[in-house]
Amino acid sequence: MKCKYCEIILKYDSNLILNYFYHLENNHYEELDDEDRIMHDTRKKMIESKQNYELQKKLDGDSDLIFNDQNSDI
Ligand SMILES: [Zn+2]
Repeated sequence: MKCKYCEIILKYDSNLILNYFYHLENNHYEELDDEDRIMHDTRKKMIESKQNYELQKKLDGDSDLIFNDQNSDI
């Protein structure tokens, strides 16, 4: 798949959408037309919420540990 905004060719594989997303994010965000920008922002929210979810799971796990530690000190 060729990038819409430059000459780079992106490989067709299971990461294509993500690779293209990061390519646009890093190279063309300012050039995106309205439709592409909406798509991009939507995708970004999805990716971020997924990452936040993973992060939150970790934080929850950690705060559980801290909470338990504090409890056992009392
Ligand atoms: Zn490009």
